Amino acid sequence: MTAPHAAPSLPPVARRVFANRTLNLRAIEAVGFDMDYTLIHYRTDAWERRAFEHARERIAKLGWPTESLEFTPQAFTQGLVVDRKLGNVVKANRFGFVVRAMHGTRVLEFEEQRAMYSRVLVDLAEPRWQFMNTLFSLSEACLFAGLADLVDAGKLPTGTSYEDAYAVVRSSLDAAHVEGALKAEIVKEPDRFVELDEELPLALRDLRQAGKKLLVITNSEWEYTRDIMSYTFDRFVPGGWRSLFDLVIVGARKPEFFMGSAPIFEIVDESGLLRPSVGPLREGGVYLGGNARLVEKKLECPGERILYVGDHIFSDVNVTKNLLRWRTALIVRALEDEVHALESFKQKQRDLDALMAEKELLEHASGQLRLRLLRDDGGYGDGVPPAELRRGLSQLRGQLEELDARIAPLAREGVEIVNRSWGPMMRAGNDKSHLARQIERHADVYTSRVANFLYATPFAYLRSPRGSLPHDVV
Ligand code: 5GP
Ligand code: MG
Repeated sequence: MTAPHAAPSLPPVARRVFANRTLNLRAIEAVGFDMDYTLIHYRTDAWERRAFEHARERIAKLGWPTESLEFTPQAFTQGLVVDRKLGNVVKANRFGFVVRAMHGTRVLEFEEQRAMYSRVLVDLAEPRWQFMNTLFSLSEACLFAGLADLVDAGKLPTGTSYEDAYAVVRSSLDAAHVEGALKAEIVKEPDRFVELDEELPLALRDLRQAGKKLLVITNSEWEYTRDIMSYTFDRFVPGGWRSLFDLVIVGARKPEFFMGSAPIFEIVDESGLLRPSVGPLREGGVYLGGNARLVEKKLECPGERILYVGDHIFSDVNVTKNLLRWRTALIVRALEDEVHALESFKQKQRDLDALMAEKELLEHASGQLRLRLLRDDGGYGDGVPPAELRRGLSQLRGQLEELDARIAPLAREGVEIVNRSWGPMMRAGNDKSHLARQIERHADVYTSRVANFLYATPFAYLRSPRGSLPHDVV
């Protein structure tokens, strides 16, 4: 902690809470948390590797060859989009234009990508596209890419399409998540799979101490939630993890939880014994299922005073915001690496911006000279001899070529930071990525981890920055 009179300073950029829409934390009366990849951060390489392997075993049981399927988590990132129809994974910009694509496990050359996608826009409302909503999507992308290669090689049963392969990936992963073996492994050796964060319990205690009701609303089942929450919090919280929360809801079946009117059951003992719940929800209770209306009734506060914090762009923030008008916070752990990469590229980005400004100037001068030549051709020139204009033009061309040679390596480096194949997660060239657009639309605020609320404090007034527009005067 800094001394009370120390000069004020903001938290490091990677640990800030960023606002798309202004959020006054003082006005928030209740904070609901998702569990997996929100309160609990998994070591993705380890967790997803096991999910991948469990699903691969199931695929092998179909008699499909699976030896070539490889788990390569660095090959994909959250926010990419699976194209079930063509066996690809793509990155799109905010308008849905594909800016990069991988077919199977191979990154497509620009020309190949253009041939496939110049007339196609990614529209997440179409079943063709599957958005990689969370870090749980990494195993899915690896399996789909590997199977798409096998479709191409003719090694899957005759007639198997990319879509069929995707359906098999989905059902295998679903089964791996739902049947007990994978989760049993996680719970047995949590230190292999869970990344602890000492600041997290303190952040939650602060929020509670500031008078906010805290809730867990997770799709995970009770036994898993109990064991993982206990492992993560009990060592730091004298009263144990349950003492942090006013309400715990497991098996929530989000997004339906936020849309429907499913009944709720109370879990009456540690082993998970259920009984139907009648009347208002009990303070400190643990429930299974239910729906958001019951939570609102229990909290007795309007949606705009409830903040829901989650990592799933569709289930946790999109539906919550659009249907219930709850305030939303998205947890994006990869933001930390992204910010660090941007920080190390900062000077080069400045150089690149300066070179691009110079290029714009030369191009403008060149356009003017060409126009004067054109006018001269049309017989309404300004009298300067065309040879002189051509000399000027050729000089500019030389300067532009020289400039391009300096720009090219920097620009290439800029699109390869963070991830060699895909570049920064939130950007698509100079534009925003599709992921950034989804976040902007549905998350009022976003941050890399829940513990960042510790830095922000429960009193923060999180202001959205003045948005940039092409005509801004800078
Ligand atoms: P939450 O994020 O709501 O706390 O929990 C996410 C739950 O969804 C976890 O229990 C996780 O195992 C499960 N999950 C993640 N991906 C899949 C999937 O592809 N299929 C199924 N059936 N469950 C999944
Ligand atoms: Mg989650």
